[in-house]
Amino acid sequence: MTTVSQARPTLDAIKEAVSARYAWGLKALQRLIAVDIIAPKERACQEALAEILRAESLPVQLVSLNEGNLPSVEGFIDTGLPLADRPNLVVALEGTHAGGRSLILNSHIDTVAWQGGAEKWQAHPLSGAVRDGKIYGRGAVDAKGQVMAAVMAVLALRDLGYEPAGRLVVQSVVGEEPDGNGTLALCAQGWLAEAAIVLEPTDNQIAYGHRGVIDLRFRVEGRQGHAAVQSSDANAIVVASRLVEVLDGALADWSAPEDTSYGRPSLNVGRIEGGEDIFTVAQRCEIKCGVRYAPGTYQSVLGHIESHLLKEGPQHRLPMGDLLNMTTFAHHDAAETPPDSPLATTLLSCVHQVAPDRRLVTCPGGTDARHFINRYGVPAVIFGPGQLTVAHAVDEFLPVEQWLKAIQALALFIVRWCG
Ligand SMILES: [Zn+2]
Repeated sequence: MTTVSQARPTLDAIKEAVSARYAWGLKALQRLIAVDIIAPKERACQEALAEILRAESLPVQLVSLNEGNLPSVEGFIDTGLPLADRPNLVVALEGTHAGGRSLILNSHIDTVAWQGGAEKWQAHPLSGAVRDGKIYGRGAVDAKGQVMAAVMAVLALRDLGYEPAGRLVVQSVVGEEPDGNGTLALCAQGWLAEAAIVLEPTDNQIAYGHRGVIDLRFRVEGRQGHAAVQSSDANAIVVASRLVEVLDGALADWSAPEDTSYGRPSLNVGRIEGGEDIFTVAQRCEIKCGVRYAPGTYQSVLGHIESHLLKEGPQHRLPMGDLLNMTTFAHHDAAETPPDSPLATTLLSCVHQVAPDRRLVTCPGGTDARHFINRYGVPAVIFGPGQLTVAHAVDEFLPVEQWLKAIQALALFIVRWCG
């Protein structure tokens, strides 16, 4: 490699190049939104994206999810979805010369379902229609619009003749919504860098960390018998309803010192399932809870729930054997990159060039940043246009102006980071 000096694109030049790409980018995004996908059926959308990018002469690779035995990789969550025929998409621009730092721009192509509610939307969820400066559609903000933000930043810079010194990789991954296995697979296959930006809607704030989620389950066993003669203490549903009450207050008295930027830990009783029919005393009842916690508090939050159960359980006539068959079924771990890290501070200063009021924040929901940070030592932050509150909702939309600002900030960051 040789050291080459090239003129760095200015902010004004970047703004112009991004504007010039807008019509192209909108059309590409609308094409992606039109491909209705939820995991595990991401292939059609990845192929549409591959076609769009190949037409721009970008080096596209479709990478198998299960190369290298993914289920054996630490951090894999088995949600029962197949792994075959679900490629991740990667565009890797090899660095042109020494002295640059490598960077990954990562987001996900899979969306949640919209079916059954199209008539409630302002515009059809597969339309990508633009109304009052908002692009409507499932995946507009979470996260097909984020994937396109990464692509447009790269292309706007290329339009200006810029070539990164460090290796620059764009990743469009599968399976973020159910389990995060798409990003995990790429990490395990060696797609690593000196920094990663995970694009998710943060309202163009820079999130340096996110909470974790524990899928906590309880199994209450009853004694089966005829409903006419058994006491209700034998009924798993009745006992489970007492347990729900105890669980609902399990974190109410949480008082441990905490980084308040993440807020208090929370426990949501998300699902309850049990019983057979009205003539039989329920023999079994399962309760599923989502427990959200800040980085570094996993053990103390679980411990707090356990001691709350031990204290309150007997008063609520709960059978305490084996602590009510409590199991942690799956764990989406919390993660954090220091807010004073070069990645977070550099991105913040780039964002400030286009949106001076944006700040460093934390993210209430989990993201794929955890794989980069916790398992592979890659500093990662979460950043992207649009609001998390409209993701997964009716009338999901991406605000055009924020989208363009995010693209400008990403382009500025690429120039500063990759050199
Ligand atoms: Zn998302």
